[in-house]
Amino acid sequence: MSSTKTIGIIGGGQLGQMMAISAIYMGHKVITLDPASDCPSSRVSEVIAAPYDDVDALRQLADHCDVLTYEFENVDADGLDAVIKDGQLPQGTELLRISQNRIFEKDFLSNKAQVTVAPYKVVTSSLDLEDIDLSKNYVLKTATGGYDGHGQKVITSAEDLEEANALANSAECVLEEFVNFDLEISVIVSGNGKDVTVFPVQENIHRNNILSKTIVPARISDRLADRAKAIAVKIAEQLNLSGTLCVEMFATADDIIVNEIAPRPHNSGHYSIEACDFSQFDTHILGVLGAPLPAINLHEPAVMLNVLGQHVEAAERYVTENPSAHLHMYGKLEAKHNRKMGHVTLFSNEPDNVVEFGKGIDF
Ligand code: AMP
Repeated sequence: MSSTKTIGIIGGGQLGQMMAISAIYMGHKVITLDPASDCPSSRVSEVIAAPYDDVDALRQLADHCDVLTYEFENVDADGLDAVIKDGQLPQGTELLRISQNRIFEKDFLSNKAQVTVAPYKVVTSSLDLEDIDLSKNYVLKTATGGYDGHGQKVITSAEDLEEANALANSAECVLEEFVNFDLEISVIVSGNGKDVTVFPVQENIHRNNILSKTIVPARISDRLADRAKAIAVKIAEQLNLSGTLCVEMFATADDIIVNEIAPRPHNSGHYSIEACDFSQFDTHILGVLGAPLPAINLHEPAVMLNVLGQHVEAAERYVTENPSAHLHMYGKLEAKHNRKMGHVTLFSNEPDNVVEFGKGIDF
């Protein structure tokens, strides 16, 4: 049997493109499903240009590929179930369903994986907000469709209730207690259905709810870092994980609280391309193919800076002045404001001295 596989990737953005590049290095062929024939993956793979919920296109992809995977979690799980053959989607559609809905996700994390999440309750209408204790702060989040802070309302006083009630009456929500965290961190973990491998803990700095800078290793105690990695491994084992998963967490003075999971490589793991001996994309491909997984070593402390549409020129200037920094550009045709166009990774022991492209300029 040939060890060369054809891998079908649903989604041809930067994550799909970087997955495809890893797969190609390993000798595999990639076909991408994406609505845009000129998507970032089109530079490195064949593209079936069709909407994600086009069942005929999904079937065409499935018919031509040995293994399927996805670059984002809002894939039509029912559509996939209708076309995949046994074992063709090692990540399964259950993980998709969990990460598409915060109510399922919280239930999975707290009751099945038994990791700590912020105290929460399910909210089906504004009636569920009537008796909340306003001596505490909360975040109300829609169960589905929210991303980068969209579909969320922070509640710190009775004045916030009008907007919160409107949100609660527009969609099913989860009400979480506000966590007074010291840092936001994330951990990448990859599985092959049997074993898992885990990456170093990443510290994430957001601007306008968009990841701006990742610092590795995160500046937390060894005890908390070990705990964060153990939590990620526990979640992965509970899922019999195949491929790469990112666990986003809050670090407080003495605890780690899980915020959410993303069943795919993640922006906060991009540094691993240069800074680790295997990247999150390499282990994703190895994982979905059921191949043995390597232990991950960080070569040197690293910093990753996101390059949004408004930062392209600054990033190009930066790497001219700092040629040892690695610039990645995803090949997106239009540099829209706040659109992720690329990233820069550099090795640094002084992360505070590495200035984000957007800091003090655009926001
Ligand atoms: P999310 O969409 O859940 O990733 O939330 C977006 C951002 O909102 C996070 O990166 C945090 O900065 C903030 N956030 C979300 N949930 C909470 C919480 N329970 N307490 C404090 N901040 C939160």
